[in-house]
Amino acid sequence: MQKFILVIILFSHVATRAQTAYFQQGINYTIDVTLDDESHILKGFEKIEYTNHSKDTLRNIFFHLWANAYKNDRSAYCEQEVENKQTAFYFSKEDDRGFIDSLHFKIDDEDINISEYNNQEDIQLLELNHPLLPGKSIVITTPFRLVIPAVFSRLGHDGQSYQISQWYPKPAVYDAQGWHPIPYLDQGEFYSEIGSYTVNITLPKNYIVAATGELQTASELQFIEAKLKTIDSSSTTKNQIPESATEEKTITFKQNNIHDFAWFANKTYNIEKKEVQLPSGKKVNCYSYYKPENYFLYKNSSNISAETIRYLSTHVGEYPYASVSIVDGKIEAGGGMEYPMVTVIGKVSSRSTLQTVIIHEVGHNWFYGMLASNEREHPWMDEGINTFYERQINDSLRSTQKKKKSDVFEGKLNGIFLYQLAAKQNIDQPIDDHASNFTSLNYGGIVYAKAATMLSYLQTYLGNAVFEQCMKYYFSQWQFKHPYPQDFRQCFESQSGKDLSWFFDQGISSDVKMDFKIEQVKKENNEIKVFAKNRTLFTGPVPVSAMYKDSVIQTQWISSPYDQAAVFKNLPEDITAFQINAEEQIPEIKFSNNVYSTHGLFHRFKPHVKFGSSMGLTYTNDLYIIPSIAYNNYDQLMLGCILHNIKLPNNKFQFAFDPMYSFQTHSLTGTGIIGYTWFPNNTFQRITISVQGNSFHHNESKLNIANSIFERHIKIQPAISFDFKNRGVRSVIQNNIRLQCTAIAEQHFNYSFDAIDSVYKSSVGAYEKQYIGKALFTHQNNMTFNPYQYQLGMEGNQTFAKLTAVANLRIDYYLKNKAFYVRAFAGKFFDLKSSQDEFALQNKYLNTTYTGSNDFSYDDIYLSRNEQKGALASQVSLQEGGFKIRTLQYANPLGTSNNWLTSINLRTDLPISLPLKVQLFLDAATFADAAKLNPSGNNALLDAGASIHLFKDALILYVPFIMSKDFKGYTKSMYPKNRILHTITFTIQSRNLNFLRTQEKVISMF
Ligand SMILES: [Zn+2]
Repeated sequence: MQKFILVIILFSHVATRAQTAYFQQGINYTIDVTLDDESHILKGFEKIEYTNHSKDTLRNIFFHLWANAYKNDRSAYCEQEVENKQTAFYFSKEDDRGFIDSLHFKIDDEDINISEYNNQEDIQLLELNHPLLPGKSIVITTPFRLVIPAVFSRLGHDGQSYQISQWYPKPAVYDAQGWHPIPYLDQGEFYSEIGSYTVNITLPKNYIVAATGELQTASELQFIEAKLKTIDSSSTTKNQIPESATEEKTITFKQNNIHDFAWFANKTYNIEKKEVQLPSGKKVNCYSYYKPENYFLYKNSSNISAETIRYLSTHVGEYPYASVSIVDGKIEAGGGMEYPMVTVIGKVSSRSTLQTVIIHEVGHNWFYGMLASNEREHPWMDEGINTFYERQINDSLRSTQKKKKSDVFEGKLNGIFLYQLAAKQNIDQPIDDHASNFTSLNYGGIVYAKAATMLSYLQTYLGNAVFEQCMKYYFSQWQFKHPYPQDFRQCFESQSGKDLSWFFDQGISSDVKMDFKIEQVKKENNEIKVFAKNRTLFTGPVPVSAMYKDSVIQTQWISSPYDQAAVFKNLPEDITAFQINAEEQIPEIKFSNNVYSTHGLFHRFKPHVKFGSSMGLTYTNDLYIIPSIAYNNYDQLMLGCILHNIKLPNNKFQFAFDPMYSFQTHSLTGTGIIGYTWFPNNTFQRITISVQGNSFHHNESKLNIANSIFERHIKIQPAISFDFKNRGVRSVIQNNIRLQCTAIAEQHFNYSFDAIDSVYKSSVGAYEKQYIGKALFTHQNNMTFNPYQYQLGMEGNQTFAKLTAVANLRIDYYLKNKAFYVRAFAGKFFDLKSSQDEFALQNKYLNTTYTGSNDFSYDDIYLSRNEQKGALASQVSLQEGGFKIRTLQYANPLGTSNNWLTSINLRTDLPISLPLKVQLFLDAATFADAAKLNPSGNNALLDAGASIHLFKDALILYVPFIMSKDFKGYTKSMYPKNRILHTITFTIQSRNLNFLRTQEKVISMF
């Protein structure tokens, strides 16, 4: 087996020039297939004439059995799904899975040996009994049985609605690079030989079939003609699927010059037809097959297919087939999926999305269908080029339609939003890479969007006419063939006569960023010279435009090394600005430096105040405002506003300030953070320096005084955080080091004897300052199943030191979103001063139950930080021992140690689904001299109970109903009544809120 791998590797490094001795294998399919719609099974027989047009003698042929991707959780498909955090198939029922079997391959009527390739059940290796010489043909036959899975990706059935794709045994491509055996994947498409197909489908008579190819059966043509006249617009037939006819029909489709065959069968489809005339006079029938309940969505949708066919036939090359169909079906791999002449559309919510999906999928007939590139290895050649045309056709259709503002991602600015999100963090990838190497975010943001924008860039640079000439040449040279990127390049360079290495070597093959700025504007006589500066290593040409408001008046291109100015002569007087990349066709990572205003106070700086935040790159320097409201037991109601510049994509310099006014303490309170992040792309992926702080009141006294007085704290915490670079962008491992220093100024109450009233009275003392250093190392492995994390910490100052280690592990059950969680903690405390004052260090000791008074750095939000009573005082944090029961009314709370402490916290999801998320928990801890310190003499503490999780774990309530003797003793003596109610505690997960990492949080959702 290994020699084949070697052959592929050797060949894959050869082709860097356009293919010279081009060949492609000849292939003719005849497939007979019968649908059993009761057991959802296809039974078929396939006959393939295979001709070896290469100069090589073939001894083996690779075959794809892609339906086996759905056989079990060991397939490459399932592994990729799990890696991409898509677990629907992994957790699917046996009955919903599918496979292909009952195969019996023969070549020229002789039995042959077949074997599984590389432990992948969806790739088989056929050993030829006799070598297949150049120019010779063989006939390969096999029966097959396909158990149709539910729809997890592309192939599948949704009840008796069938999406039959990637279904029949299919030879891999053999080209100048060798064999291309590829497993079925969801993220990653295909590469197939071009040939002719005759497919005979037998199924109950009342099914409507949409398929690749030209329908040959006269009775079926009549059946369709009749259906065209009986459109069901009632929208009420949902779930009223008619019984299948007992009588069957066999219908035949034939087609040349295609590389795949898909078909879709459903008993209720409406059919709509529109004829479109191409510039040559040729006519093409555009069909829409849709469910009656989607009548209003799909009505006249054949017009969209027609416009797409017309546009691409005019601007790229003529559509050679007789018809094109779109099918309203079910798909889990994107919004739609293309097959030659037929396309399936998944669930879409609006007409405008439907339009985009139809244009895109029908457009694939060119970029994938006729220009049959290797989609798995060079996905941009189909998705990127196709998205480029999808945008153009959408623009041309929309110019005649009413514009709707709803589609955030469809504006020009946001066409590369996802790319910019990744590029700003240096986790983007080159456009030209293997499909499965991309992160889910980059597959959409780069292969589709950035590639399309790069082509717009090339188009504006070459001009529409030259660009179209290049594209038409590419089409004429490579129609019905397998072009590689170098072939596309050769077409464009030869036709335009230009060296386009900036486009191909940098724009397509590398991830070099683009960011131009206007450096200088000089007025000389009646000439204006505009100098641009390149802020990256990119060497492409840059357009500089003279603008009147939003309109481009004149554009000049500047080329690398950008030392020549763009010279504008005889410009109108009322020019408002000079702008780089005014059409936004260059995928820059910063737009706010593109404009130089000729009027106004600032030429470049454009301050702008806005409510909320914004998405996409902006030309202005934005300040955002959001009103804020907060509460704690001392300051009580606080109102204020958050002033920030946090948006997507992020700025490097970010801040968020939340000043508030407290109506109880009549003072200013609030929090804030300010930070600068850079992505050096070396040992470190990301470095952030930040300062955060807060100031609130945290204690109240009214001892013998008329009005309450409050203790206040001011915390300032400078920090530096290093994220280590991962092995690859798809890696799920994260290592981080954080160093911080916390400066705290705290007030404390003084109690002095008042001689006049002869009582002790409280007053507020002066601020006392302390500084605490802390270092944290965090390792995270965010794999889909059984992720874990551990953290080592060291903190202290001249008076104390604390070493901590905490580990978290999630053990997943074989049930979706159900797991067992283990947390372990160990800590060691050092009293460096052997304090004379016994209480001085008490709040820094290790704690089994961690509460507000232990949070000496003011890192968490506590609603009632120093109270011993009341519902709000029942707040605990999952720090240190992680226990849930407080014993605050003891002078020395249970489970406090000035030496060492260790604990384990277990919790589990319940195997049932409840309206609220409920878990069971159990905590156990022991510490130095536990037997001496615990009143019971026990060596350990224990609590267990149930937790109720609200707002996605932001607020968790704990109901402990089992506890060790010491806790029991405490709760019994303190709460003689309603003991359970008083023992309930809660936690607010506030420590994970980091405004400077919002972008990362958003990205992790992809
Ligand atoms: Zn696509």
